[in-house]
Amino acid sequence: MHELRKDPLLNRWVAVQFDSKPPEYYNFEEENEKEHSCILCAGREKETPSEITAIRNKGSQPNDSGWLARVIPNPNPILRIEGDLGRRGIGMYDKMNSIGANEIIVETPEHDKRPEDMGLEQMVRVVTLYKERVADLEKDSRLRYALIYKNSGKEAGAVYTHSHSQIIATPIIPMRVKDELDGAKKYYAYKERCIFCDMMREELRYGDRVIFETKNFIAFCPYVPRFSFEFWILPKRHSCAFQEIYAEELEDFGLMILSMIKKLRSVLKNTPYNYIIHTAPNRIPRRDHWHTLGEDFHWHVEVAPRLMRISGFEWGTGFYVVTTSPEDAAKYLREA
Ligand SMILES: [Zn+2]
Ligand SMILES: [Zn+2]
Ligand SMILES: [Zn+2]
Repeated sequence: MHELRKDPLLNRWVAVQFDSKPPEYYNFEEENEKEHSCILCAGREKETPSEITAIRNKGSQPNDSGWLARVIPNPNPILRIEGDLGRRGIGMYDKMNSIGANEIIVETPEHDKRPEDMGLEQMVRVVTLYKERVADLEKDSRLRYALIYKNSGKEAGAVYTHSHSQIIATPIIPMRVKDELDGAKKYYAYKERCIFCDMMREELRYGDRVIFETKNFIAFCPYVPRFSFEFWILPKRHSCAFQEIYAEELEDFGLMILSMIKKLRSVLKNTPYNYIIHTAPNRIPRRDHWHTLGEDFHWHVEVAPRLMRISGFEWGTGFYVVTTSPEDAAKYLREA
């Protein structure tokens, strides 16, 4: 079991496992490499927790084979859906129960199918499940934020080799998200414009950092990246919440993700990577709190290849060193 503890210096919440045994760092990936050991594969449905939702062939039953993409609770969750928040103080410190959701989106029934080889129809199924799950989790008033993310490769944090993404919904707004929301709000207060819309206009005007465009989306390397070959995907239509994406945009979003992962693979081969979707926090319980959120925030995807490990310098300063300029990275990715 985990509990959530708040750092009184930086207001950052950390999930701490409190009933841990002496160090037992289990290598999930190695375990999954073993033959017949992957529970995400088709035919192993009975060995996973009961599915939350799935896109299935006609006539197939839940928790049976015949699915095309499915969502299951994480078998090793950090946060649990049952219970109350139990927020309390211990002397000068704050803590709460690890309430939240931890879900795995199994992107394909086939163990060796990589996202870049899935095809558009399958990628659209995956992003459709993303939307469905975030929209559903937003209804739980205990939850403040839902992050969709993908870890690809062990060095990027993946515990399964089978293609998957994850959702974690937290009872607090995580610090990185809050920093972005605050920055966007300040910019809006000053300029009365969305910073992301401005950024998009500037990138299109300048051009050298733009990688790829579809009807509804644009991919570019940010002017100030933290990782070499980092890129962002933004919807051209201003919208603060990913789950409010239109049906016709969803298809285009699938195309954008698929095209960009293909480009990433073609330039950087097997480099591990992460992507995340930054959407607005849950607005239901604190409707009055986010006065301008609908205008000042703009949902987006951030993609970070893990070419180098974080060093003591980055850890100690939050100051990143990037070895490929975003202008060069965009050029390589554009031409791929
Ligand atoms: Zn598998
Ligand atoms: Zn915008
Ligand atoms: Zn972001």
